[in-house]
Amino acid sequence: MNVYRFAPSPTGFLHIGGARTAIFNWLSARKENGKFILRIEDTDRNRSSDKYTKQILSSLKWLGLDWDENPVFQSERENRHIEIANKLLKCKKAYHCFCTPEELAENRKIAEKNKTEYIYDGKCRNLTDSAVQQKIDAGIPYSVRLKTDHTNVQVTDKVLGNVTFAVKEFGDFIILRSNGTPVYQLAVVVDDHDMCVTEVVRGADHLSNTPKQILLYEALGWSIPNFVHLPLILGPDKKRLSKRHGSTSVEEFRDKGYLPDALFNYLCLLGLSTGSDSEIFSKDNLIKEFNLDNVNNSNAVFDEKKLIWMNAKYISQKSAEELLNLSKEYNARENELEDIQKHSAQQLAELVKLRAETIVDFDQRMNFFYSSPQQFNEKGEKKYFNQDTSAQLQLVCDKLDPIDDFIPAMIEHVIRNLADELQISAGNLIHPLRLALTGDIASPGIFEIISILGKSEANKRIKNAIEYIHKLKLE
Ligand code: GLU
Repeated sequence: MNVYRFAPSPTGFLHIGGARTAIFNWLSARKENGKFILRIEDTDRNRSSDKYTKQILSSLKWLGLDWDENPVFQSERENRHIEIANKLLKCKKAYHCFCTPEELAENRKIAEKNKTEYIYDGKCRNLTDSAVQQKIDAGIPYSVRLKTDHTNVQVTDKVLGNVTFAVKEFGDFIILRSNGTPVYQLAVVVDDHDMCVTEVVRGADHLSNTPKQILLYEALGWSIPNFVHLPLILGPDKKRLSKRHGSTSVEEFRDKGYLPDALFNYLCLLGLSTGSDSEIFSKDNLIKEFNLDNVNNSNAVFDEKKLIWMNAKYISQKSAEELLNLSKEYNARENELEDIQKHSAQQLAELVKLRAETIVDFDQRMNFFYSSPQQFNEKGEKKYFNQDTSAQLQLVCDKLDPIDDFIPAMIEHVIRNLADELQISAGNLIHPLRLALTGDIASPGIFEIISILGKSEANKRIKNAIEYIHKLKLE
């Protein structure tokens, strides 16, 4: 069985790059009836926090991901990592290094001066057992280094192909620090092995770690997992996506009113060739169609406009009821609507959802429904509110009053007739009406809005606007 894992470090929010890595692992595991496990890599105690662990898990859940076992916390496995380092020492695949930080820093300086890459010179590599024991007995601190013998390590990657690394570029690297703590390379290999991970799918920023990890697998005689390094996500300027470009965390996208399924869909397509013209895929479809072989080997550019487009598509496909429930989560409206109002809100939501780009946008576009305008769009006010329109608005009220069947077609009929009577264009009535009813200059169809608000509410709002216009004159 193929076992996939996602191994975030809880040193920040879940970045969308991390989210995409998690999604690709999850989709592969679900498609292959494999396993998807989570490992929280919290070994950097200064930078890791529970707050971030919670946020990462909640962002993953929000995206609709689930995992097959309780998450593993890497920090709890430190003894196991040390045990393996000791095993490597015992079989002489690793050695004690007593070089002091000052000595190493000096060598680093020399390398810098000579403009060469700093590599550990192997000074402690061939110490005799008794020399080592003497130093340990004397209490001299030591780190543990892996003995590297190869000249080259080849990483076979499903996306990037074969990538060869020269071992001399990094040399005998440390696996246990002099304070006794394991380094990331060791912890990852031991954990992936113990968790029976067969597929390591992670960001391309980890590619340079992979040769070291392969050397560890070989030294331990463990089978090497398959590696997939996902090309990076870049901003529009082709630089690595970062805060400079705007929102980067899943939480931020959620707060901006993106739907989880839309973000999921968008991230799936980021760097994937689907071979299909369609871009909207349900999760079930993605599970069926997903294949890591189709991941592009060039970096992907994050395009928020495209995400907005996709989000709007997902919003337009949701039911009015779902959208109203979602929008409740984004605002602090406390009053429960009466049944009749609920019906009207749903009617309006059906119209609003066709234009809304995010849930926050949807909510704003719905706002006028819940309370009559407290202020009017400034430009609209200048253009549409004057003594003529005030008189015309009064006439609209008079004409609407006798309508029994308060449906859009009837309302439209009455208003257009009135415009004809007044020998003005219907727009001359519609624009001030829209401003009076919604406070804004753009909205769904005005006849629908009048019908949805109902006769008495529409009447009340128009009267308010008339009063407002009178006050404008007095000022
Ligand atoms: N903890 C690493 C990170 O958050 C991932 C390590 C891995 O996937 O091997 O970048």
